[in-house]
Amino acid sequence: MSRNLPKVGFIGLGLMGKPMAASLLRKGYSVTVFNRSKKDVEELVALQAKSADSPKEVAENSEIIIDMVTDGPDVQDVLLGPQGVIQGAQNGTIVIDMSTNSPDVAISTALELEKKGVEFLDAPVSGGDKGAREGTLSIMVGGKKEIFERSIPILEAMGKTITYMGKTGSGQAMKLCNQVAVSIHTMATSEALLFGTSLGLKAEEILKVLTSGAANSWNLQNLGPKIIARDFEPGFKAAHLYKDLKAVLRTAEKENLPLPGSTTAYELFGAVLAAKDGEKGTQVVARILEKLGERKIS
Ligand code: NAP
Repeated sequence: MSRNLPKVGFIGLGLMGKPMAASLLRKGYSVTVFNRSKKDVEELVALQAKSADSPKEVAENSEIIIDMVTDGPDVQDVLLGPQGVIQGAQNGTIVIDMSTNSPDVAISTALELEKKGVEFLDAPVSGGDKGAREGTLSIMVGGKKEIFERSIPILEAMGKTITYMGKTGSGQAMKLCNQVAVSIHTMATSEALLFGTSLGLKAEEILKVLTSGAANSWNLQNLGPKIIARDFEPGFKAAHLYKDLKAVLRTAEKENLPLPGSTTAYELFGAVLAAKDGEKGTQVVARILEKLGERKIS
């Protein structure tokens, strides 16, 4: 079935990783998976994935290894740790980190892997859990051009728009730009709904008008209806957007660049975490705005 395709390893089977690995299996790749929570592993084994006991064991059985974990320290743990990919990878193996962290993590990880002859791409994604399930993610890639070109078929098995951004770290730089816009759009969606409904407008009508004019956005289309339905289940966890905004502001500070919109979003998402709602979807920020305004979107 997968005779001419490289053997793939996949580490991190969360909201994003599980459907991405499933896409690869559907396209005929032989995939060896590792995840700490075993329930998610069983689901993929049922789809013909092979299971490994550590990232090291994934590396021993794979030519291309993808990781989709949470943050920079997690990436470095699964790639460079004592049971990490670096311990089992062969010279020439390609590692693709698709989680969101920061350009400096990508650069230092690539340097460590290079010492063992292992190639590295930073290739974070946008498009949410829906894009992961449908194989339509937008993937932004940093690293050596030649390694990017060799990796295009596997990236196309998970995504629809694949963009080469430049040297190592550029994929993460692009993803942080994306998170600046996403976080401000999420605030905008919640704020417009709160403002409009407090003026007596109907929430559904506000969304209909906003999505048919200049204010339209992915957030309004996808998160607006969830806010109205009071569905705060995660496609993208609020805690993850908070960690991304932290990386945005840390990176901007090094550039002496003020980002007032992102700073406000960071504070609001900090309040979401303080309210113990970090595991909810990012649309839960609407509840913080409701508390501040002492009224509800209804
Ligand atoms: P998630 O559902 O919380 O899953 C995170 C996965 O990483 C889990 O499988 C977790 O294993 C694993 N993990 C975390 N730290 C680990 C460590 N130190 N060692 C081994 N495994 C570890 O998160 P997600 O939504 O899939 O997001 C994954 C990445 O994609 C994040 O960087 C996120 O910012 C980014 N992203 C998410 C979305 C989205 O819409 N969800 C969109 C674009 C990008 P356990 O289950 O065992 O804890």
